[in-house]
Amino acid sequence: MIKDFNIYEIFPTEDSYKTFLYNLKFKNLLICPYCYSNKISTYKNLFHCNICNNKSSITTNTIMHKTRLDYRKWLLALYLFLFKENISYRYLSSILNVNKNTAYNMIKKLNYLYINFKIEIMSLITSNSSNEEILSNILLIKIK
Ligand SMILES: [Zn+2]
Repeated sequence: MIKDFNIYEIFPTEDSYKTFLYNLKFKNLLICPYCYSNKISTYKNLFHCNICNNKSSITTNTIMHKTRLDYRKWLLALYLFLFKENISYRYLSSILNVNKNTAYNMIKKLNYLYINFKIEIMSLITSNSSNEEILSNILLIKIK
């Protein structure tokens, strides 16, 4: 179950969280999002498929696809979205220090994820994993 936690204490740098996400994904789901092959090699933050030659990143086909934000902001946004009722984009924009448009779009994507993957999200939330694992697995849900 999720308890209060300080994201920036657990992940002091953007890279520390990227590495965590990478390892989480690497362990759980090492398949190509395009052709579902498991013949994958890794290069920096990218996966390269040896079958179809497509490259993908940790965030391909997730709500974070092509995001330019620090991934920790997504982690914090998800946490607030799930555990503070009805957060406004104004509130989110001030907490994350992003502009209101960005905050608005994040909430839209989180809503989409929540509405369409509620069962998956609920089963992750009630699992015995750590907070950061639960929330990160939710962020990594394939929406396509
Ligand atoms: Zn492939």
